Amino acid sequence: MTAPALQAIHLHKDFRGFTATNDVTLDVHEGEIHAVIGPNGAGKTTLFNLLSGFLKPTSGEVRLFGERVDRLPPEVLVRRGLSRSFQISSVFPSMTVRENLAVALQAPTHLPRQFWTSERVLAEFDDRINQILEEVGLSDLQYRLAADLSHGEKRGLEIGLSLTQDPRVLLLDEPTSGMGSEGIERVISLVRRVAVGRTVVMVEHNMSVVAQLADRITVLQYGQVIASGPYEQVRHDPAVIAAYLGH
Ligand code: ADP
Repeated sequence: MTAPALQAIHLHKDFRGFTATNDVTLDVHEGEIHAVIGPNGAGKTTLFNLLSGFLKPTSGEVRLFGERVDRLPPEVLVRRGLSRSFQISSVFPSMTVRENLAVALQAPTHLPRQFWTSERVLAEFDDRINQILEEVGLSDLQYRLAADLSHGEKRGLEIGLSLTQDPRVLLLDEPTSGMGSEGIERVISLVRRVAVGRTVVMVEHNMSVVAQLADRITVLQYGQVIASGPYEQVRHDPAVIAAYLGH
């Protein structure tokens, strides 16, 4: 049997005596869209930080394709195929969409600088940029300044920036936050497209988005997993209903 794409195993995180993550065990299967939900303060962000190497667990393990990664820094996790798209934007507003992707693609290259302008390398970058633009639905807007993008289009660019790292597992932090219905629709189809051939783990508040996108969900409350499974099953779970009604 192949290992899950991403696993948390009895994960704990204490902040000076306060337990933000309490014995969290979770499997994300390869190829699925997995949503992590829960009321404010449930520990979703802390879990995301633990899964992506931004925080070290107090105890427990994180495994990526079966290999233990919880002691590795985020940049090493990126090289192993896990990237995270941030709400805090890494987009350069005064550059075009295409230039933003070009900068992100060149940043991690290990080729010495003088090779960056070689025709072969440039052609490779061009192909890759076109592919990503297509994937995030921004081909028609590639020469637009990032500053002039709508909220939904900007989220597309942010996800596009993560795709330059060639992730097998993509972590999305509240991809629809702060959006109107049009932006939300755009992000739903975007996540569907980028999930093809990849594994996606997302923190998401909007239940209708979760219902439309997630293959499975994990519900956190007070740092613990209170339910996990397919959306239809979990949404009828009494503990989940109580957690949301209690808020
Ligand atoms: P969520 O993302 O579900 O809203 P968080 O993971 O941000 O939840 O927070 C879970 C709990 O852990 C909260 O009570 C929060 O105050 C606490 N917490 C998060 N980060 C820290 C930190 N660096 N130091 C102390 N407490 C923290």
